[in-house]
Amino acid sequence: MGTHVHSLIERVVKGGVVDKQPIDIENSINLAMDVINGIRTRFPGGHEGVEDRVGLDAYDLAEVWGTMDYRYIVYGHSLFAVDYKNGVIPVPADSPQLLTYALGAAGKFLDDFQQITTCVIQPNALEGPPVKWHTMTPWQLRHWLDHVLRPAIAEAKSPHARAIPGEYQCRWCPAKSNCPEYRDKSLAVAKLEYKALVGNQTPVIPSPEEMTPEQLADVYTKLPLLTDWIKHVQAVVASRLEKGKPVPGYKRVAGKNKRSWRDEEAAKQFLLDNTPNEVMEEDMYSKPTFLSPAQAEKLIPRTSWKDLSEFVELTPGKPAIVPESHKKEALTSSMDEFKKHIKTQYTQEKSQ
Ligand code: SF4
Repeated sequence: MGTHVHSLIERVVKGGVVDKQPIDIENSINLAMDVINGIRTRFPGGHEGVEDRVGLDAYDLAEVWGTMDYRYIVYGHSLFAVDYKNGVIPVPADSPQLLTYALGAAGKFLDDFQQITTCVIQPNALEGPPVKWHTMTPWQLRHWLDHVLRPAIAEAKSPHARAIPGEYQCRWCPAKSNCPEYRDKSLAVAKLEYKALVGNQTPVIPSPEEMTPEQLADVYTKLPLLTDWIKHVQAVVASRLEKGKPVPGYKRVAGKNKRSWRDEEAAKQFLLDNTPNEVMEEDMYSKPTFLSPAQAEKLIPRTSWKDLSEFVELTPGKPAIVPESHKKEALTSSMDEFKKHIKTQYTQEKSQ
């Protein structure tokens, strides 16, 4: 999905058009274009690049590179490094990836700029705004390069580099297929023994009901890593089988066929001719669904949002689980509610 949205945005940025898309994808494209057109309008005459390979060759770090979604450069003035994220885990605008892209886009001209801005467009982020900005001076970016990135790269290259597994850093790491730390941490999550997985024994996964609160918290924290590891195992198995390499007990088969109309008009006529009289043409179409408030807001100016809210009913969202440090206040548990109810009743009875 993310790759698909990226390619659609790339096409629109380059002046192309895209076919009608599902509303959430259209909203994502519109949001990205609002950001990009905003930059273009505020800083006319800049040079832009889409899906460019940017590397840190100018800083003697040629091995560090990436493909940048969008950059906009007004030489001697401003540089924008923009990244689109389709995922839900919020990514800050000053993430190492974005700062590295900004360095790569600036190249040897870094000190000529007055300001460098990184931007993350993340319409599906679980929390925080869908567009985040981070503006810094060339000095601040160079300081990060010299005091954070260079030491980290030096350590990564050393034979005694610590391998510290984590969801973010391991996701795209090419070494993860052979990384014992990544494997051990992933397996430790569910307390599985590696020997049990490769032997004939059935791995014993503890029942969550029988785990202590501390064990639950520990596993819950590591779930993203385990999920990533599972996806990686699936991808490697699929890739091995595709290349004709064996994976004992498994084979590749054709997927389930998907049916679609070859000629929608001809199919409709056939249905009309062959169904009982009470079936009308409109019965051939699914009912259109009305826009959600969030989608409707995209159609009207921001100044009218307040008036629109009169038509909106707020239903409390499903409770979410977040780290204790999160700024939102904790909900009371059902047991707390029950105790409160009993206490109120007791106080009322006593006062009668
Ligand atoms: S997979 Fe291993 S080497 Fe790669 S980032 Fe994770 S811990 Fe480090």
